Amino acid sequence: MSVQPLYMNGEFVTSQSHDLIDVLNPATEEVLSQVADTTEEETNHAIESAWTGQKEWEKVPQVERGRIVRQIGDAIAADKETYARLLSEEQGKPLEEARGEVDTAVDFFHYMSEWNRKIGGDIVPSDDPNEQILIQKKPIGVVAGIIPWNYPVFIFARKVATALITGCSVVIKPSEETPNTAIAFAKVIDKAGLPKGVFNLVTGKGDTVGNRLASHPKVALISMTGSVPAGTKVMEAAAQNITKVNLELGGKAPIIVSKHADLDLAVKHIKASRIENAGQACISAERVYVQEEVAETFTKKMVAAMADTKVGYSLSEDQIDMGPLASSHHLEKVEQLVNHAKKAGAHVELGGERMDKDRGFFYAPTVLTNVNHDDEIMTTEVFGPVLPITTYKTFSEAIDYANDSIYGLASALYTNDYNEMMQAARDLHYGETFVNRETGEAIQGYHAGMRQSGIGGTDGKHGLNDFLSTHVMYLAFKDEN
Ligand code: NAD
Repeated sequence: MSVQPLYMNGEFVTSQSHDLIDVLNPATEEVLSQVADTTEEETNHAIESAWTGQKEWEKVPQVERGRIVRQIGDAIAADKETYARLLSEEQGKPLEEARGEVDTAVDFFHYMSEWNRKIGGDIVPSDDPNEQILIQKKPIGVVAGIIPWNYPVFIFARKVATALITGCSVVIKPSEETPNTAIAFAKVIDKAGLPKGVFNLVTGKGDTVGNRLASHPKVALISMTGSVPAGTKVMEAAAQNITKVNLELGGKAPIIVSKHADLDLAVKHIKASRIENAGQACISAERVYVQEEVAETFTKKMVAAMADTKVGYSLSEDQIDMGPLASSHHLEKVEQLVNHAKKAGAHVELGGERMDKDRGFFYAPTVLTNVNHDDEIMTTEVFGPVLPITTYKTFSEAIDYANDSIYGLASALYTNDYNEMMQAARDLHYGETFVNRETGEAIQGYHAGMRQSGIGGTDGKHGLNDFLSTHVMYLAFKDEN
């Protein structure tokens, strides 16, 4: 089986590493490709290439950078079906979802390309009439972009488009579990006309290659999306050089369903949120708090909706709603969490076990009740199609439950009561809140967490700002008499 290449200094190269990683199809368990755990020397070479490429790229006018970023989006769009199939194959999500993810990635390249001619600074008044204070926004420098396996296509776009439009060079490390789409995109970027070294890609594991990227003194920003434990290690490695970190980490999104909610709307959205990508999304509905008066009706409807989910492999079956989990070790983690919940007294209303299939890492859509707010299943990110439901009495109690978490990324509220909405706007401590709407961020918004969910983001103007440095010039002058 051929080993996937690395990309550095404007060319594809074969890694000299003997440490190879199998990339599996999670639905069929077949080996799709192999990637190298890039050596230290090769990783350093990729960073040095980016360092050299940076000097040239930051001088390229924004309008030209925007043209190239747009062109990358166009080229991906032109071959959408190929990338969607590659994604579905290596990650397991249904083909229709994979197509949607490619569309969002294209949209992201296009959105960022429109920042051309718009990234500017300020001139602020000085205390001295013979001085101007110029606040410049400049590219931060070499960006290391570390990508997870759950949205490998969209998150690739988030890191690369934002780096390129802001004038930064980038070294990308896709997840060792889903590298194939990133390597396919490297082939697109190779033809985009970037100066050598502006875009680079290394493959391999987090604790080797990822760690080298995070601890290299020539990396100016580590933009990493992944789990809290890996984010913690990235921060530790970055601390060696006081390198800036941009971390989009895990979540445990609370969903509050009030007695004033449209229950059918809530059920429809919560189901969609929990089964999209088999529940492997940082903003996915991870825990539900429903008001006592409507708990029974809501739970019945929720169970019926979740039961109506067709699970399978969409490259060989029609009309699939949900695919497998992304890996066997992730399947084991989900299984363990549900088993612990069962032992702790949770009632299994639906599912609660692996699916009976010959091959693949399939877990059944699951609904659990009789759980308490502080049970492990309500506090630990499950990242699977598992919905634990508990009840609350007063709205203030629901807000307290929601806020009582180490995570602070997404949250959602279903109510038609104006006062509850306004109370949530004031009291929920989250990076984002979705009101009467399915969880899912907009690229022009700002997707960033609080507490252990991370630091900073990459979307919209606020995300873009994370990839810039601020340089203040004090320009003193004399009057000509
Ligand atoms: P992970 O943390 O295992 O891996 C993510 C990436 O980090 C991979 O490329 C991995 O190789 C790398 N990595 C791991 N250890 C590292 C280390 N010590 N140093 C440097 N890099 C390291 O995460 P995952 O399992 O791929 O993704 C799932 C997690 O990502 C979930 O917790 C999910 O909530 C989170 N996520 C967050 C967002 C967000 O926007 N906040 C988006 C998607 C996923």
